[in-house]
Amino acid sequence: MTERRPHPGRVLIVGGGTAGWMAAISLAMAWIPLGAEITLLESDAIGIIGVGEGSTPKMRRFMQKLGVAEHEWMPSCNGTYKCGIRFPAWSTRPGYESYYHPFFSPSDDPFIRAFHQNMTLRQRNLDVHALPDTFFLSNYLAKHSRAPLGDGTLDHQTDYAYHFDARLIGEYLRKRSIELGVRHLVDTVTGVRQSESGAILGVDTQRGGFVEADFFLDCSGFASVLICGALRVPFMPYKDFLFNDAAVAMPTPHPDATTLRSETLSSALKYGWVWKIPLTNRLGNGYVYSSDYIDAATAEQELRQHLKLPESDTTEARHLKMRVGRLNHCWESNCLAIGLAQGFIEPLEATALMIVQDTVEHFIELYARGGFTPEHRDAYNEKINRIYDSVRDYVYMHYKLNSRRDTDYWVNARENRHVSDSVAAILEVWDNGGDLLGEIVRQRDYMSYSPTSWFCILSGMARFPKQPRKPRRDIPVIDPAGPRKACMEMLEHYPDHRSVVMAMQPAH
Ligand SMILES: Cc1cc2nc3c(=O)[nH]c(=O)nc-3n(C[C@H](O)[C@H](O)[C@H](O)COP(=O)(O)OP(=O)(O)OC[C@H]3O[C@@H](n4cnc5c(N)ncnc54)[C@H](O)[C@@H]3O)c2cc1C
Repeated sequence: MTERRPHPGRVLIVGGGTAGWMAAISLAMAWIPLGAEITLLESDAIGIIGVGEGSTPKMRRFMQKLGVAEHEWMPSCNGTYKCGIRFPAWSTRPGYESYYHPFFSPSDDPFIRAFHQNMTLRQRNLDVHALPDTFFLSNYLAKHSRAPLGDGTLDHQTDYAYHFDARLIGEYLRKRSIELGVRHLVDTVTGVRQSESGAILGVDTQRGGFVEADFFLDCSGFASVLICGALRVPFMPYKDFLFNDAAVAMPTPHPDATTLRSETLSSALKYGWVWKIPLTNRLGNGYVYSSDYIDAATAEQELRQHLKLPESDTTEARHLKMRVGRLNHCWESNCLAIGLAQGFIEPLEATALMIVQDTVEHFIELYARGGFTPEHRDAYNEKINRIYDSVRDYVYMHYKLNSRRDTDYWVNARENRHVSDSVAAILEVWDNGGDLLGEIVRQRDYMSYSPTSWFCILSGMARFPKQPRKPRRDIPVIDPAGPRKACMEMLEHYPDHRSVVMAMQPAH
């Protein structure tokens, strides 16, 4: 029997964006105590993508695992709290022109049942209130710019995520990784040497010569220097499902110095959507669009108008191309790709760093269980592919359910015939008044999103039969005033968001 190795020896991470440093710190914590050598090599000539400022609640777990308190890292990254995402202008249906995708709290439990009751009635064409916003505490927190931190008198916690400056979070993780023993090299990879079997032996660099290792992490962003460049793993575009392939980003000052919102706004425009992310020092804004429908200059113009910037404004816009899709498999031979090198689903639900975390954590767990066996590798690759495809499906649903008629872009997105089996089954059950929860449970091995998230998007975008009827008297209908009142009463237990994050700032 061959002896199992607890770590893969010398590990070289190529790329020092958020993905590279998240991987470095995770591997350092798991493997340096076992004797592994972790080196991160990044190019000073190429730079990082420098966007990616929204997260999911998984990031909270990541920071907790690192053992760093929020007041230690948030101020240095201009970090703020995120209660959820609001989606204005995706639907044109009266009463449903905007909806909110919440992060959940145990206090939502009774209201989730109430929401479910009304949503099911509305799905069966009865005229009842079914907008998800009403039923979830985090919507009220976000609307009233509260921090999702209860005052300790409530018997539950509210889940939440963060916003942060993409560059500063990388710098923070770099500092911590180096403290934990990660070696840091600044150089540019110019070539990759492989053995006869195809395994990577090491990389040639511009200034420092040959750097060898036993295992490689490709975190080189869209360039995918190792996994696509050397190992030739095919890339599978999601273009048929998701049209957007470009973005233009532009920061602006906060319009109001007294309020700090605790949500991401993702507002639909003519050919895509705009994110608005509040940091402590500025707003991050960006228009994600399809270059098949508009050019970069028109997109920038539409963004400037949306942000109400005067003609004289000289804020510089950053134009970005996006490679949307995923690798056929992210672990090939002795190389694992993570981050943009591995794949990217457009940022509508801010899921990229969540997948980085999943990829790294599953890899560490799986490696501890069995090392480099082909069976483990195949199972791992399938699992990561499922995560990508199922997140893609959830993002796709926003486009599929839109009811805008202003441009071909929106009409084509709605009428898109490319539908995954998973989405087709969900729509079939929903449109026929069937058991959606049962369907989602049936698909549980595939799904990344909870049943409640699916209910929220289907109801929030008002995918209902038209011309609803009045419910019969004997059918129990939930009056939205009940959950609204209860959530408003809970608000007093949550502090003002701006006051909380400003109190964390170091005194000058
Ligand atoms: C418009 C847009 C919006 C986004 N919004 C979000 C969001 O809200 N939430 C979210 O989670 N994610 C978001 N993302 C994704 C997020 O930006 C990335 O997942 C994250 O920044 C990680 O990027 P990365 O580290 O993989 O790549 P990069 O930041 O591009 O880093 C690549 C690294 O590789 C190095 N490199 C490249 N080639 C070489 C070479 N030859 N030699 C040596 N080094 C090399 C570079 O120097 C750099 O250090 C967004 C992405 C885009 C495009």
